Amino acid sequence: MHELSIVMEVVKQVDRLAKEHNVKEVKSITVEVGEVSGVVKDYFVDAFNWMRKKNELLKNAELNYITIEAISYCEDCKKTYPTTRYAKECPYCHSQKTYLVSGKDFMIKEIKVI
Ligand SMILES: [Zn+2]
Repeated sequence: MHELSIVMEVVKQVDRLAKEHNVKEVKSITVEVGEVSGVVKDYFVDAFNWMRKKNELLKNAELNYITIEAISYCEDCKKTYPTTRYAKECPYCHSQKTYLVSGKDFMIKEIKVI
């Protein structure tokens, strides 16, 4: 499961930060996930909850999961549009010369500690 490895990576980073700053417990973690990043929210939340039980730092941590809309840009008419609705074809001029400008990244936005 792809989501589990991402969660494990998040936990690893939180562990490292907690050690650096002498943190005993994490209150909440906010992640921003692109719509087309390939991460499935339900799987991610399940994986997080599973990992959380085994981790002293995270046992009471809340997960804020923010979905970032996927936006594509059209090189021909210079407009942007929502990627998931129209895929590769621009809805304005029907050009295929489009590329994704946001929505494929995953990032840890904020970690709150007690
Ligand atoms: Zn266009």
